[in-house]
This record gives sequence, C-alpha cells and structure tokens, in this order.
Amino acid sequence: MKMTFYGQFVAGEDHNAIKPLIHKNQAFGVGAVLDYSVEEDLTQEEAEKKEMDSCVSEAEKESPGAGHREKKYKAHRQFGDRRGGVISARTYFYADEAKCDNQMETFINCIKASEVFVFFFLINKLQFSEVLVKWRKFFNFLAAQQGKSDMTALEKRLELEQLKVFQESLTQMGVAARDDIENWFTGEKLGLSGTIDLLDWNSLINDTTKMSNLLMVPNLETGQLESLSNKFTAEEESQMKRMLQRVDILAKHALENGVRLMVDAEQTYFQPAISRLTLEMQRKFNREKPVIFNTYQCYLKEAYDNVTLDVELSRREGWYFGAKLVRGAYMYQERARAQEIGYEDPINPDYEATNRMYHKCLEYVLEEIEHNRKANVMVATHNEDTVKFTLEKMNEMGLSPTENKVYFGQLLGMCDQISFPLGQAGFPVYKYVPYGPVNEVIPYLSRRAQENRGFMKGSQRERSLLWNELTRRFLGGQIFYKPAY
Ligand SMILES: Cc1cc2nc3c(=O)[nH]c(=O)nc-3n(C[C@H](O)[C@H](O)[C@H](O)COP(=O)(O)OP(=O)(O)OC[C@H]3O[C@@H](n4cnc5c(N)ncnc54)[C@H](O)[C@@H]3O)c2cc1C
Repeated sequence: MKMTFYGQFVAGEDHNAIKPLIHKNQAFGVGAVLDYSVEEDLTQEEAEKKEMDSCVSEAEKESPGAGHREKKYKAHRQFGDRRGGVISARTYFYADEAKCDNQMETFINCIKASEVFVFFFLINKLQFSEVLVKWRKFFNFLAAQQGKSDMTALEKRLELEQLKVFQESLTQMGVAARDDIENWFTGEKLGLSGTIDLLDWNSLINDTTKMSNLLMVPNLETGQLESLSNKFTAEEESQMKRMLQRVDILAKHALENGVRLMVDAEQTYFQPAISRLTLEMQRKFNREKPVIFNTYQCYLKEAYDNVTLDVELSRREGWYFGAKLVRGAYMYQERARAQEIGYEDPINPDYEATNRMYHKCLEYVLEEIEHNRKANVMVATHNEDTVKFTLEKMNEMGLSPTENKVYFGQLLGMCDQISFPLGQAGFPVYKYVPYGPVNEVIPYLSRRAQENRGFMKGSQRERSLLWNELTRRFLGGQIFYKPAY
C-alpha cells in the first residue's frame, strides 16, 4: 500500500516518518502544512448515528418539535454521513470528550514538528451557527426596512434612532445589561455617527454573552424573541467551553513555536460557528503577526461579503488578517441537501461564477496587502489560471514573493507542476501533507479514489507533463535533477 496510493498522497505514519519527505520538498523551496488525516472506518449507518447523537441536543431529543429551528440548521439523518461526495477533505465525527482530548495531544505534537498546521473545529451543535446567521439576517431585515437592501454588506448602516424599538428585545436576550444597551442606542459606545453597521451589530454578541441566552433569537416578522430550542444541558454548555479551552491551548502552542494555524472550512451549517470562533482566535492571537488563518470558500454566494467584513473588522481592531482562499469541497453535498430539505442553494450557480468570486475575493485581499502590509493570504488551489492571475496581480502591485504575504497551497501528490516551479522561483508555497497510520488513513484515501474522478482528470495533464520531462532527461542525458538551492 505504501508503494501505491498511500505513498502518492500520504507522507508517512507519524511526525517522525514524514521528515525525509518534508526535507526533500524543502530543498526545492516547498514547505509543508501538516494535516493529520486519520478517519474512523465507519459504515454509513454508523456515521449517521454518530452525527445524530452528537448534533441533536438532549432537549431536542426529548421534544423534537419544540422551538423555531430553521431546517438548514437541524441535523438530518439522510445527510448525517458528511463524507458523501467530499473529495479533498477528511471527515471527523464527534465521539466524546476523551477522544477530543487525545486528538489534541496529537495536534500539539504536529504543531511542534511543523511550520504551518491545519486544524479544524469539531462543532457538534448546529444552533450556534443558526444564531449567528439569524442575527445577521435580522440586521439585513432592519436594513431593508430602512430602504437599504441593495447595498453591499459593508455599506449598510442602520439609523440608530429608528432601532430604539428593539432596545427591550436586546435586553431580554441578555446580550448586555439594560444600561449598556441604553448607552449603546444613544451612541455612546458607537461614537457620534448615529448609525451602526453589521460589524458593530455582530459585536453585540461577545464573549460575555452566555451561550444559552443566544438560543433566543428575534423573529424577523414580529421583532419578538423566540426560543430556538430548549436550553442546552449543563453538560452541553461545558462541552462547548472545553472545546474553546482546547482551541486556546493549541493556539498558544502555535504562537510559542512560531507556527501558523489554518482552520479548515466545512459545510455551511457548521461554517458560521467555525468562522466566528476562528475570528475570536484571530482577535486574541494575531496581534503581532498572523498566526491564525481562516478559510473562505469562494463557491459560496456570500463569500465576498464574508471576506470584506472580516478584513474591515481586522482594520478597525488592528489585528493581522490571515486567510486561506479555496473554491470549496462540499458542492455536491451542499446542493443535494439544500434541494432535499428545501432551502436556497448556498453555492454559486456555475463554475464560472465561482471562478469570478475567487478572483474578486483574492483581488480584495491583495489590495489590502498592497495598502496595509498586515494581511496574509494562502491561495489554496490547483487551478493554473488562478495561480497566474495571482502572479500578475502581485507583479502589478509590486508585491515581492520574498515579503511572504502571499502563499500558495496544493495537496501532496497533486499539481507538482505548479508547486515546484513556484518554490524554485522563491514564492512561499506549501503542500498540504496528510499523514497518519496506514489503516486509519485508508478510509479517507479510498473515498478519494472512488469519488475523485474530476480530480483524476487533472492528473492526465500531470502525466503528460511527466512523460515530456522524462523524455527530455533521457535525451539530454541528465536523469537526476538537483534543486537550485
Ligand atoms: C491547500 C488546500 C487546502 C484546502 N482546504 C479546504 C478547506 O479548508 N475547505 C474546503 O471546503 N476545501 C478545501 N480545499 C479544497 C478546495 O476547496 C477545492 O475543492 C479543490 O482545491 C478544487 O478546487 P481548485 O481551485 O483547486 O480547482 P478547480 O478545478 O478550478 O475548481 C473546482 C472547484 O470549483 C467549484 N465548482 C466546480 N463546479 C462548479 C459549479 N458547477 N458551480 C459552482 N462551483 C463549482 C467547486 O468548489 C470545485 O471543487 C483545499 C484545497 C487545497 C489545495
């Protein structure tokens, strides 16, 4: 197995075994983003059961009809096996706290052995995402009432005077004490502009807000508060807190070891919570340099809004913005789920729209780097046009590769014709390096083999390039190639 599929896509069994490959790539200017890729070998039925057990709160299990949950943010058994149709990402299911603690030990070892480490949040309560999305929708609803629905997310500003009717609701939600909210609406906290934008609005939900208070959300039509579901149990509240503590420990290790942490993006019903938690980490750990990177999926219709809002927040609060831009790995699953359950497809209508979105988001971040050298971006793609687009823009903007503000990322075993020339030309380029014991990585690899026909089409181009190179070396009498440095 090690001579075949595993050998092509996986670097080795543990952080020691992968060292030779990492050093070899480094000699060609190609760095490594370590990605511990073990997956449990679950049947579909087992995966569905695990998902339902972990994503449905105890209160919901007791009275499934209670609350005003949106369909999208409820766990659905038929989509419980999140591995379906997913190509380039391994999938984890929440088991219990002990397993999460064990995994953290592995992650700490990875951090010590790497330059960049990829990491994921295992969010097992969908309500957190739902609250954040409803909170944003409530802002958009108010903006529409004030005749501002056609503006971009960053342009919309609500007139505070007209919002006073919601003062009481916000107090009841427990987002802040009554006095604070009164001050807020008289503009003391927000300055004298008399208006409020989405970032100010989002800042109302902060770390002093109790999770259970957030389970009350405003009804868009009536402006009244409604319960999203029954409250979390004490055990569920503490699970959430323990997750935040684990993340905090990992980020501290990363900071101490000079390692950057990249947080992967996942399905849209988890992603608002993942993004929000990542943002909290960025606020805390990106004060001197970008340590934590968030991932933005450009196949999403809302990708540009997400990127621009977070860049603006980093400017206002003075921290270092760090982003990994991808197109997105869950397209088939997202579309099938939206259609089956009956909500709007979150994905751009076609591939071209995704490409335009990617380039628009990338251009925005590159401009941010041009004007304010604090931002960093990883262009994580196998798409040659996007790589060329980035190089052209960097050239136009005078962004030198040696400034280390723009990185490139590809998966190990794929698109070496992009990674290695970039590395040799002095651009910061990284391979996502999956590793882990053969038996535990095989489930992920075998899914990749079965579902990866699209990806494999891309490898035909690699095969023909390899063949040309082999011929060139034979004819030129230079079989082995030595890196330039
Ligand atoms: C280093 C690295 C890190 C990654 N991390 C993540 C991550 O954290 N989260 C994540 O979700 N993915 C991640 N991915 C996977 C990534 O999102 C893509 O699935 C994969 O890279 C293929 O996209 P591409 O840009 O390389 O290639 P391309 O072949 O140019 O693009 C294919 C992608 O375009 C989009 N697309 C295709 N057809 C359509 C259509 N009809 N309508 C709309 N969009 C369409 C889909 O996103 C599809 O995956 C990562 C990839 C890399 C290389």
